Amino acid sequence: MINDALITPRHIVVVGASNDVQKPGGKILKNLLDRGFAGDLRVLNARHDEVQGVRSFRDLGELPETDLAILAVPASACPEVAERLTREKGTRAFIVLSAGFSEQGPEGAALERRLVEIVDAVGGCLIGPNCVGVLTPRHASMFTLPIPELTQAGCDLVSSSGATAVFIMESALQKGIRFSNVFTVGNCAQTGVEDVLAWLDQTFDPATSSRIKLLYVEHIEDPDSLLEHASSLIRKGCQIAAIKAGTSEAGSRAASSHTGAIASSDLAVEALFRKAGIVRCHGREELTTVAGVFLHRRLESKRLAIVTHAGGPGVMLTDALSAGGLQIPKLEGPKAEALRATLLPGSSVTNPIDFLATGTAEHLGAILDACNDDFDAVDGIVVIFGTPGLSAIYDAYEVLHARMATSKKPIFPVLPSLVTARAEVDWFLAQGHVFFPDEVLLGRALASVFDTPPPAGEKIELHGVDIPRVRQIIDRCERGWLAPATIRALLAAAGIPLVQEGIATTREEVVELAREHGFPLVLKVVGPVHKSDVGGVTVNIKTTEHLLAEFDRMMRIPGATAAMVQPMLAGVELFIGAKYEPRFGHVVLCGLGGIFVDVLQDVSSGLAPLTYDEAYAMIRALKSYRIIQGARGQPSVDEKRFAEIIVRLSTLLRFATEIKELDLNPLLGTPSSVTAVDARFRVE
Ligand code: ADP
Ligand code: MG
Repeated sequence: MINDALITPRHIVVVGASNDVQKPGGKILKNLLDRGFAGDLRVLNARHDEVQGVRSFRDLGELPETDLAILAVPASACPEVAERLTREKGTRAFIVLSAGFSEQGPEGAALERRLVEIVDAVGGCLIGPNCVGVLTPRHASMFTLPIPELTQAGCDLVSSSGATAVFIMESALQKGIRFSNVFTVGNCAQTGVEDVLAWLDQTFDPATSSRIKLLYVEHIEDPDSLLEHASSLIRKGCQIAAIKAGTSEAGSRAASSHTGAIASSDLAVEALFRKAGIVRCHGREELTTVAGVFLHRRLESKRLAIVTHAGGPGVMLTDALSAGGLQIPKLEGPKAEALRATLLPGSSVTNPIDFLATGTAEHLGAILDACNDDFDAVDGIVVIFGTPGLSAIYDAYEVLHARMATSKKPIFPVLPSLVTARAEVDWFLAQGHVFFPDEVLLGRALASVFDTPPPAGEKIELHGVDIPRVRQIIDRCERGWLAPATIRALLAAAGIPLVQEGIATTREEVVELAREHGFPLVLKVVGPVHKSDVGGVTVNIKTTEHLLAEFDRMMRIPGATAAMVQPMLAGVELFIGAKYEPRFGHVVLCGLGGIFVDVLQDVSSGLAPLTYDEAYAMIRALKSYRIIQGARGQPSVDEKRFAEIIVRLSTLLRFATEIKELDLNPLLGTPSSVTAVDARFRVE
């Protein structure tokens, strides 16, 4: 666990440091020296008295007390060194660069466990093994390059992969993005990405801490901790973007329900990130572009102006923003006309504002002033400005720099001429700006930042759900697929409407049920899990003769134990499902039933328990949402009721983790009701 010995050590020893700066042990010492360490720096190396000008101890016994040890010795030697350092030298933090641990099989895994035990025994901190190190303001304990200057105005980067952290830094630095702290945690033997995030949360100081956190995670060991601390940091004013790599982590699953087939573990990650308010990214460029957006003022609405002197990039950006749901409102009226009069003939101000390849810095200034002062239709501005190389463009970048300092609305600069206008771009960067090399990546990043909701509320919606009753049913129920009566009781306890139904095992009973319910009826086989697939559902039965014929047939279906009678309901077919994902909890899905689930996979996901806001957001994120609203004169669906069922079901699940999988498919929705007509629950 992160501690002071790691963050603000008084002394550091590099175990296995050498004069060869092409080796990790040599390079990390060089980086520490180059950056400067205000405490005592030492080396432990049996063959030297001095390494790179630093005092080297040949024998561990002679070493004075040391807070932080960096281990760059073979894996097999690490436990013993760590043991002696903790016991004899008061060492409470370790950065283990060495590879050859759990990533290399069972023997390495045993060494790694031993190392963790040793460090845990003294309540110390272990970073790695198999990492490239840590960069904090006090020390640059990283054996790779680049080693950027750290600043509080930069980002905190936490990565489980060292190489990836290095490449993320490369991508970020060239855009002008800087760093505040960088942690690589390698095998995460003791300290994982979640633990570092927890520490960043617990020690967050609005006056001195970075407000931007970038994460690269391969395995989420503790989703609850990630959710808690990410949400907490965001509520404190931070912004977080993360890559979760390895989307097929959970491998194959039994696909016995719709939900089972759709809900991969990646949906759980997706849902977790959304619940926490983390912007999900899938690659380095995307991550650093999102970081660049974070480093600009927040976009207050969806409406942007695009200012360009090249048509193509303006069009591509328009496409990217529109695809992401952002708007490029048309600018018109006297103020737009007045602006156009100041530009070159042929310029367009309707948005994108295209002031032509020959447009000047003065034109750019006039446009930015108009966007700020005159055009209330836009709340943010993207400026695309490069050069075909005919003249220098310092003047334009000076205007951009000056306007970015005074603009009320965020200005996002896209500077595409990284070769031809290198000197101008460098000048712009030297003013402390962050820029975007590519307008489409920026457009997508703007959309995903804008789309990411704030962290969900933490309150569990208990209203309408009888938790003691739910527990009572679950504690006593059968295992495997639940019987109709158990499902009925569970849904009743959660206040979820289920169609009336009756079970018959004889011809007399089925006729009696028909008399109670009245025609038209639906008859279903009880027993087989997928009823339609075995001819076990007949809808719209209007006569006793038809009913009896269907009853006789269904009772002969293999596995049939009874038949179920339901009234025939009308409505839009809806779907709600859930699946238990180990460590994450239940992923709840919703969508429209039928082909919308099966073919189009148009489903939204959320992580239980869900709030009303989350449930509404899930429903509204559906591509088929317009059908729920009642597209083209079709009857709508009671959206409030649909949301309520999603919320109640998620609350029920929160208290019944034994439920591994469930489907309500379909529910039939009308303008005034939503009623389940088919439900499957599997309990383990
Ligand atoms: P299964 O999913 O096991 O095949 P369902 O109970 O979902 O069986 O029934 C299959 C289809 O029959 C549903 O998708 C729905 O279109 C229709 N259906 C089932 N019950 C009713 C009902 N009570 N009212 C109207 N239609 C129904
Ligand atoms: Mg069904």
